[in-house]
Amino acid sequence: MQANETSGGTQHFGDTVTASPAERPLGRSIKRGMLSRCPACGTGRLFKSFVKPVENCAACGEDYTHQRADDLPPYLVITIVGHIVVGGYMATDLVWPLTTWQHLAIWTPITILLSLILLQPIKGGAIGLQWALKMHGFGAKPDADEDATPAYGDRTA
Ligand SMILES: [Zn+2]
Repeated sequence: MQANETSGGTQHFGDTVTASPAERPLGRSIKRGMLSRCPACGTGRLFKSFVKPVENCAACGEDYTHQRADDLPPYLVITIVGHIVVGGYMATDLVWPLTTWQHLAIWTPITILLSLILLQPIKGGAIGLQWALKMHGFGAKPDADEDATPAYGDRTA
């Protein structure tokens, strides 16, 4: 046997037996989340209802109780829909001068529909982002207890 011959797969510096083989590419995780699929395996469903995520993936068992999408999805939806609707309103008002009630009749349903269409995929993308970045206990380490953090000015040591 030669000195540089290897018996198995390629070993890289820093590899350990306990290193997780599962990678978490950011773009793929967000894309899977936006398609309402589990960011980890891409096959299990991510939502059990409109914007309520499942507790665990039915396919791979990934725990989704760690997700903390909170206000990010509605904030992003408001930003996107606001630019489309306000831009559309201003552009059409230049071409066809309509009355206020005609603009309301056009843009109110578009606003509601776009918001409903975008909210679930954007929330899925936010969960995919959190999973890829191992936020909020998606990694092996749970979130630090907020009560354990000393308050400002609380210097007992
Ligand atoms: Zn899964």
